[in-house]
This record gives sequence, structure tokens and C-alpha cells, in this order.
Amino acid sequence: MSKNIIEFKDLSIEYVLSKYSLRAVNKVSLNLVEGKITALVGESGSGKTTIASSMINCISSPGKIVEGQVLYYGNDEVIDVAKLNEDEINKFRWKEISMVFQGAQSSLNPVITIFNQFYETLTVHENYKPKKERRKITKQMAKERVKYLLEFVNLDAERVMNSYPHELSGGMKQRVMIAFSLLLDPKVIILDEPTTALDVITQDFIFKLLQKINREMNITMLLLTHDIAVVAKYADYMGVMYGGELMEYGTVESVFKNRYHPYTSGLISSTPSLIADNSKLSPIDGIPPNLLNMPTGCRFHPRCKKCMEICQSNEPSEVINKNGHMVRCFLFDKEEKINE
Ligand code: SF4
Repeated sequence: MSKNIIEFKDLSIEYVLSKYSLRAVNKVSLNLVEGKITALVGESGSGKTTIASSMINCISSPGKIVEGQVLYYGNDEVIDVAKLNEDEINKFRWKEISMVFQGAQSSLNPVITIFNQFYETLTVHENYKPKKERRKITKQMAKERVKYLLEFVNLDAERVMNSYPHELSGGMKQRVMIAFSLLLDPKVIILDEPTTALDVITQDFIFKLLQKINREMNITMLLLTHDIAVVAKYADYMGVMYGGELMEYGTVESVFKNRYHPYTSGLISSTPSLIADNSKLSPIDGIPPNLLNMPTGCRFHPRCKKCMEICQSNEPSEVINKNGHMVRCFLFDKEEKINE
């Protein structure tokens, strides 16, 4: 029986500026199933990173949750992440949910050795614990933990621990960041475009490593990516974001097989493949919506080849079939075989 570890409930996030506010995420409801990899795909600006940031209360200023909740079920008590105070969120972040940021290679401090970066994090997190639970982390204790993690991500631990970031290749730095995300034994890891700027062979290696971590350590993962091929190969569930809304969600198998939403269908049909006939690739016409001037009705309608009159004035709502496959499109309502 699968259990949700995170539930986004009717989540809306706005960036509030002096003259206007920009709604980056609109009424998104989505669950992350424990121990599984869920991918969020969509063009830049579709709201993927903003949603993920809300899981660790780390939305860039001046963004804030204006409606809905992010609920965490990783412990005995349910945690409403947005309600955690500063001390509580410091303790929660990295211990319960960690994140490998986009461009992780520049997340490392260039003037501190890799070991000392791990050691600092371990010692700082002890200070977030109640006094009686704090341990004194010796360098020897830290060394054992860091060595184990670096070896787990297939690095030469002794060499890497004593190195500065500039002494490592891009792929090695990425593996260091993955090891770093595991440092405090989190239950969930957010991966924001984890292989950006890496060559194809290294990308494949990193994704195989992430899959191994997911399977062997039972860590739930939220993968944010533009890469549909990666989703097909490594994820269990996928959500398709467009203009701040979740347009389709289901198991990877169901979404690829059915592609009910015209945007999902367009994304998959515009992805090149090494084995398919690429002369039949068909790009999605038009450009992503301006969040300050969102189209009326269905926000995908100016680009949708199947747009109907109703789509221009009415907003489709979420429809979920008995298999848990969700689609936000009027066509889905009309599809007899799926609208049960
Ligand atoms: Fe296209 Fe209409 Fe469906 Fe929107 S609701 S995706 S415009 S068919």
C-alpha cells in the first residue's frame, strides 16, 4: 500500500511586488509517494522550482504561499511546512528534506575543502537540536560519515575530502553535492535539474546513481527537469506543469501511453529520440504565457491545436479517473472511456 510523504493541497504562491503580484503557482494539488521518484516537467517559468522550494520553506523573496498547504508525513506528526518558525525550519531542512540545486557545482564554497564543508554542516545541525540531544561531532566521526557517503557515490573519498572544489571535474562536484544532500539522512531529496551542464555520459551515470540511492535507501525524490527522456527512464510518477498549473499527473507509464492533455502530447512529440523517426517531430507553436498577463480560460489555449470556444473563456478544472490519472482539460471531460 503506497503512502504519501508530501501532499501539496491547493497550493498557490505569489511574488508580491509594490505595484502588482505575480502568481507563479496556481491551486496545485499533488502528492509525492514515499520511496518513489516523481518528476515535474514543463518549460522554464512553469512553477516547478517554486513548488519545490515551498517544501523547505525556501521560496525566493518576495514570494509567499497565499493559499493552500504543504504537508509532510515523514514523522509521527504531520508537519505543515509553511507554519514552521525559523528554528523549526532550520532543523527540518536537510534533516527531513534536502535539495540539490540547479547549477549545484557553484553551490560549493570555493575556499573550503570538501571535508570541511561537510563537517560544518554536521556541527551546525547539532546546534538545532535540544541541548540534551546534542552530540559533540569530532573530526574523526565526521570523517567516517563523509568517507562512507563519498564512496557511495563512487568517488575516491580520501582524495576528494582534501580537495577544493576547483580541483574536481563537473561530474565529481555533482556527485559531491549528491553525497552532501544525503549527509543528514533525509527522507526526501529535491533534485532541480541535477545534470545541467554535464555531458551525456556523465548525466546517465548520475541518474543511475540517483536511482540506486532511491532504491537502496528508500529516499523519496522530486525531480525537476525539462528532459522528457530522463523522466521516461527513471521516474515512477510525473506531473506536467504549464503557466503555474498542474495540467496532467499520473504514473509515468500512464502519462506516456495516454498523453491526454494536448500540452503533454506536444512535449512528448517534440522530444528528439535516438531510435524514433525524428522527421516526425512536431514543436509546440507559440511561447510560454506571461504570468503578469495570463490568457483567459485555459491558460494553454493560445497554443493549443485542439482549442474549442469554451477554452477561451472557461477554466478547466481537474478531473481524476479511477486510476488516479489527473488531467485539466475540457477534452478529458468528454472522453467517455476516461471520464468514469
Ligand atoms: Fe486545449 Fe481546451 Fe484542453 Fe486547454 S482545455 S488544453 S485549450 S482543448
